[in-house]
Amino acid sequence: TCVLMWFRSDLRVHDNTALAAAARQGPVVAVFLRCLPQWQRHGHGANKLDFWHRGVSALRRELAGLNIPLLHRDIEAYDQAPTTLLALARETGAQRLHFNREYPLDEQRRDQTVITDFERAGLSARGHHDATAFAPGELLTGNGGYYRVFTPFAKAWHRQLSAERLTLHDTPPPQSPPAIASDPLPPSPHLGEQPVATEDWPAGAEPAADRLERFLRFRGRHYARQRDIPAIQGTSELSPYLALGMVSHRQCLQAVLGENHGRLAEGDAGLVAWVNELVWREFYQHVAAGFPRVCQHRAFQRHTEYVAWRNDEAGFRAWCEGRTGYPLVDAAMRQLVQTGWMHNRLRMITAMFLSKHLLIDWRRGESFFLHHLVDGEFCANNGGWQWAASTGTDAAPYFRVFNPTTQSSRFDSEGAFIAKFVPELAALPPKGRLAPSAEQRQQTHYPPPVVDHKVARLRAIDAFKALKPD
Ligand code: FAD
Repeated sequence: TCVLMWFRSDLRVHDNTALAAAARQGPVVAVFLRCLPQWQRHGHGANKLDFWHRGVSALRRELAGLNIPLLHRDIEAYDQAPTTLLALARETGAQRLHFNREYPLDEQRRDQTVITDFERAGLSARGHHDATAFAPGELLTGNGGYYRVFTPFAKAWHRQLSAERLTLHDTPPPQSPPAIASDPLPPSPHLGEQPVATEDWPAGAEPAADRLERFLRFRGRHYARQRDIPAIQGTSELSPYLALGMVSHRQCLQAVLGENHGRLAEGDAGLVAWVNELVWREFYQHVAAGFPRVCQHRAFQRHTEYVAWRNDEAGFRAWCEGRTGYPLVDAAMRQLVQTGWMHNRLRMITAMFLSKHLLIDWRRGESFFLHHLVDGEFCANNGGWQWAASTGTDAAPYFRVFNPTTQSSRFDSEGAFIAKFVPELAALPPKGRLAPSAEQRQQTHYPPPVVDHKVARLRAIDAFKALKPD
């Protein structure tokens, strides 16, 4: 009898733990449940949903090369997953289902129900750990709790990592041609909005592998120096691919080992810094699993639930539309809306601007980001927002409020990035691009600052100072 493999955010055939396990048990039939209304309720927008759709299409081609048919079903909500999968098991005669686990709360609940319902029906459903080097719960502090601080987490990660954990799973060999045909894929979802992150982000395992190789060959060694400069393509731009599993963290780390004489924690400074970012990705997945309140719109640090966030609709709109009057903040927000992606340094700056300078609830920014990002991923996005808003694990201390103008002189000193996304300032000399005078603003029709940095900084500090930590 055949075995079902349920693909979700692991859209690849190479080095896929659950697929490898399924293929060992018999001929595989692949399943994808598209759950658009639920994903939209979670906050994903056209860029991510379109990329996901294109990723499934690329996966279908890869699977066809292995004679694995792909069955595609649209469902409305996660609670329809168990019955839909049980119906597919009946139709195909499969007795076993495999999938790779996902760690945010709704996904864990969905998977638990699937496992229970399969057991009740006398069938088996098995969740595999695949997404990170350590499953949540495997790396714990001396007191047996989840880590709340990144550095000790990263130390433990390096200390306990073994070659075995990073061993790649082979692509299953092609199976005999199946009796079941693949479903035709429905057209890309119409969501009332056009995706903008299309040409720059070809979907699938092949473009992902290609990016990884090019990054390591040309940019990896310069990463430590270039990663903070948004005008340079200094980072890997692999985030959408990692978020949907078109490349695995093992493939990334193996590639580093290959380039760095078998080392991850020492050796080339650029590669070591890049590995550290991959560990941040894992950290935030562990945080989401270990402290599920963060999946329920709650702050990690409970006392920060009481920040008196301002209800400033005009400020929020100015931030969303890139008209705060702070050129680097505006360039960043326009990059997000126009391209569906934003550089990491700028994510930190804009998130801090919203939550500190405007003192607007970070959750509004979190959902705006998720709506636009092609790499929108709950754990990293929530972790990044709670970091910037000083409400999270190992967050920025509340009194360290980035000065957006200083940040631009440090990381975009010539205003090259600003000129690209705020073209009205492009004709000004660098100093004017970074901090246009009142006259230059008038001439270029660029708005005055929505808040004064010094005043806004003190207001934010006061709002946090008023709270009593737990
Ligand atoms: P690289 O610098 O090449 O890093 C390699 C990979 O490491 C990334 O692809 C990503 O998977 C991971 N990574 C890097 N930095 C982080 C980090 N700080 N936290 C977690 N993982 C990281 N990343 C997302 O994938 N999805 C999101 O929705 C997301 N939202 C964010 C929101 C805020 C407010 C902040 C501050 C950060 C957010 N990040 C998010 C993390 C980070 O900004 C992006 O992963 C990174 O910019 C992607 O570019 P890259 O692939 O070139 O990264």
